[in-house]
Amino acid sequence: MSEISTPRRRILVAGGGLGGLTVAACLLKRGHDVRVFEQAPQLGEVGAGIQVSANAGRVMAHIGVADRVAEIGFLPDQYRFRTFDDGSVLQAIELGARYRETHGQPYVTIHRADLHTVLVDAVRGLRADAIETGARVTRFEEDETGVTLHFDGRASERADLVIAADGIKSVLREQILGHAQADYTGDAVWRVIVPMEDLPPMARETCTDIWVGPGRHAVTYPLRRGTLMNFVGAVEYPTLEAESWTTPRPWEEMRDDFLGWNPMIAAIIEAAPRGECYRWVLKNRTPVRNWSTRFATLMGDAAHPTLPYMAQGAAMAIEDALVLARALDIDAEIPAALDRYQRNRVDRTARVVTESTENRKLFHMPSMEDLRASFARRNMSGERNGWLFSYDPATVPLE
Ligand SMILES: Cc1cc2nc3c(=O)[nH]c(=O)nc-3n(C[C@H](O)[C@H](O)[C@H](O)COP(=O)(O)OP(=O)(O)OC[C@H]3O[C@@H](n4cnc5c(N)ncnc54)[C@H](O)[C@@H]3O)c2cc1C
Repeated sequence: MSEISTPRRRILVAGGGLGGLTVAACLLKRGHDVRVFEQAPQLGEVGAGIQVSANAGRVMAHIGVADRVAEIGFLPDQYRFRTFDDGSVLQAIELGARYRETHGQPYVTIHRADLHTVLVDAVRGLRADAIETGARVTRFEEDETGVTLHFDGRASERADLVIAADGIKSVLREQILGHAQADYTGDAVWRVIVPMEDLPPMARETCTDIWVGPGRHAVTYPLRRGTLMNFVGAVEYPTLEAESWTTPRPWEEMRDDFLGWNPMIAAIIEAAPRGECYRWVLKNRTPVRNWSTRFATLMGDAAHPTLPYMAQGAAMAIEDALVLARALDIDAEIPAALDRYQRNRVDRTARVVTESTENRKLFHMPSMEDLRASFARRNMSGERNGWLFSYDPATVPLE
């Protein structure tokens, strides 16, 4: 545990997702008194993959779990943009040894449940009783000296700071920013995980592939040391009723959404377990520039929900975590630290939110000719290595 020169704080984190757990680990490591409250009765994550790029990997290194994440995940060779039909490569980003050399951290694809478990272990290793499950946060109240966090059916807690890491449906966001509905983006995404051994050899690719085509795109990459293949398929639907992340939908609907696609996509869909095809609606919010009151602040999807079209939503939550912890190292007064935190995070996260949203247009162009021409004008490797993956939340100057 490292010493902090600013006061040791009592800090309450609402939400035990990837963001909440990471901020808890960063703060516990500094010696703060931290509790995490998760509404779910049991800790866990949905069955889906997640990509951890070097910018987030540096935070994993900071809390001592980067090697574990790389070990239980998969290290893809390349990140490729491919056409939905013949699979021709439109752009490629090297992710192998060269990426690791350039950025000091690998690019890892990992099962969300595995990453979540690593983070839970990291938090509990720093404080065994830090996480409480079945604790649904309802609101907070501030006064001159601090903040009180209220729960559904549980006694309130007093603290110096509340961090809202309660995701896109954040109840605390409403209190800080007022009520505003998250908007349906027009897309819903299928998610499915397939055992690699159930796939024909031609479908056992070792890259992250983004398959782009009119009105939809798909993402494929291996997980768990290459024993699983992750599939995400984003499809435009003009209207869609609310759906749960965890209710399976008929396999035939997913198959029909990708009829005529590349044989690799067809093979993954064919191998998909029939009762385990999930689809969920993607929602978005316009970026805002204020995330905080005096003693409460937002992070991750609660602050800046991000479409998964750059695979950076969790990475932004993870970056937020370390920058917020570092801001508290610098400023003795909490409101000043929260100001510093959001001042240093608002532009970067807004850029990622905006570019992710713009990618929907790029990936889904109705004309393949226009789509090819648009990709030909881009330098995805230069762009992403340049400003996205190179960001170091552990050392970036906090002005
Ligand atoms: C299809 C898809 C693919 C994606 N792929 C990637 C990727 O490859 N890389 C990447 O970086 N990002 C990716 N993302 C984005 C990423 O999943 C999110 O940005 C990330 O999970 C946000 O983390 P969070 O901790 O802020 O919120 P969440 O993960 O939503 O966690 C919020 C937590 O708070 C809890 N909670 C909510 N309300 C309360 C309450 N009132 N009281 C107590 N607890 C509460 C919830 O139960 C949950 O555990 C993807 C997203 C999607 C949809």
